[in-house]
Amino acid sequence: MLKRKTDRSQALFEEARTYIPGGVNSPARAFQAVGTHPRFIERADAQFIYDVDGNSYIDYIGSWGPMILGNNHPDVLKTVQDTIVNGLSFGAATEREVTMAKLVCQMSPCFDMVRMVNSGTEATMSALRAARGYTGKSKIIKFEGCYHGHSDGLLVKAGSALIAEGGTPDSAGVTANCAKDTLTARYNDLDSVEKLFEDYKGDIAAVIVEPVAANMGVVLPQNGFLEGLRAICDQHQAVLIFDEVITGFRLAPGGAQELYGVIPDMAAFGKIIGGGMPVGAYGGRREIMECVAPVGKVYQAGTLSGNPVAMAAGIAQLTRLKEDPTVYQHINALGDLLYGGLIDIIETAKAECTVNHVGSLGTLFFTGGPVTDYDSAKKSNLKGYADYFLHMLDGGHYFAPAQFEAMFISYAHTEADIKSTLEEAARFFGV
Ligand SMILES: *Cc1c(COP(=O)(O)O)cnc(C)c1O
Repeated sequence: MLKRKTDRSQALFEEARTYIPGGVNSPARAFQAVGTHPRFIERADAQFIYDVDGNSYIDYIGSWGPMILGNNHPDVLKTVQDTIVNGLSFGAATEREVTMAKLVCQMSPCFDMVRMVNSGTEATMSALRAARGYTGKSKIIKFEGCYHGHSDGLLVKAGSALIAEGGTPDSAGVTANCAKDTLTARYNDLDSVEKLFEDYKGDIAAVIVEPVAANMGVVLPQNGFLEGLRAICDQHQAVLIFDEVITGFRLAPGGAQELYGVIPDMAAFGKIIGGGMPVGAYGGRREIMECVAPVGKVYQAGTLSGNPVAMAAGIAQLTRLKEDPTVYQHINALGDLLYGGLIDIIETAKAECTVNHVGSLGTLFFTGGPVTDYDSAKKSNLKGYADYFLHMLDGGHYFAPAQFEAMFISYAHTEADIKSTLEEAARFFGV
């Protein structure tokens, strides 16, 4: 039996469902997978998030990553307040966009140039268009279980043997024609990539990958996987794109590229880059980015792209991340504490669970594992996760309302927070 009152959230959810499909503006925030209604949020501060019924929670979602410095960070907030008084948007070039572009190019190893957009979806979609424009080839390879936003060509799953060419739509409304240029390989399986390059010789423009997968739960690249992708792309003159919408600025100031020392040709960012404002970015080698309009023939645009308020928030957050190594020391140390603690608990409880983690990012899978790709992630006991989630939520610990997501730790979290979360988890597992 849940202890907390959620009447107001429940009432809002009822009303929301009348006007918004499923009551939410993004499926990830529906609590459908865990059999309850969303908690409607009123405010968030530092490591805490507060719902409309007056409940507070330790926040392990952090807006799905952006709040890496903690919710409502004073530096980010101040710069937004200072900026809005001059107007919310001009649709014209501004100095802040230059500052932001320079900053991102300095931080991201693969960036000579960058274009700002408004979401991660736009970033990956535009990066792929640039890669196709640059190579003149049409097919792309993605990996099963990786998520790259909701553009047509990326909502595609592995094709069935009955279909001669390419993938099949993973969403109603995506046409077979859109899906056929997207080929699907298995994460951590270089042979599956090489086979596609054999089968579609000369046709593959790009390989797009989450360098650490975080949308089938967290799945780490095995030794040699990213290096292997680099080598295969070099061999076939295909563009290697890292989708760092989650890993970017989180695993290191230079993201997974920096952490693993594998430099892609292009990368896509989102989430952290906007400090909580809707921002995405794609970029990479100069010769590829110079294919983009108005210099090149690849068209891509955005009325609100490089928005002054969003740039101000992003600059404030990224500057802090670039200049203050204690942020990464802190979140990584807390990651070791949380994920190490969870591993101890599931071992003591002899629970059929697996913890995958790197730095501040991790997932507790309800399967004995190991979890190395989508097939092994899918073995998870979803009812087990839902029970765990509800127990933790009721105890004041706010995790992703679905198994195949990540936990996010921020600079505002403390050792005491992690310890209290581990105590709650230990109670769930009965140890
Ligand atoms: C969230 C996410 C996206 C999509 O970003 P939106 O801003 O939601 O469009 C793309 N790729 C990855 C890896 C993501 O986690």
